Amino acid sequence: MAKLKNKQPHVRGRCVACRWLGICGGNFRARSESVAGDIWAPDPACYLTDEEIKL
Ligand code: SF4
Repeated sequence: MAKLKNKQPHVRGRCVACRWLGICGGNFRARSESVAGDIWAPDPACYLTDEEIKL
């Protein structure tokens, strides 16, 4: 529960280097768990391209 209240240090994959992480926070963790079986995997519903998220 503590990790879910402070998600940013725990997200993985493309979210780690996303320029919008501070605003988005990694989006919806339940969706990552449901689709990838990993609560810290990137949200599969993120519609931004790699070009749009790069720093
Ligand atoms: S915008 Fe997309 S890639 Fe960036 S932190 Fe949010 S879910 Fe992750």
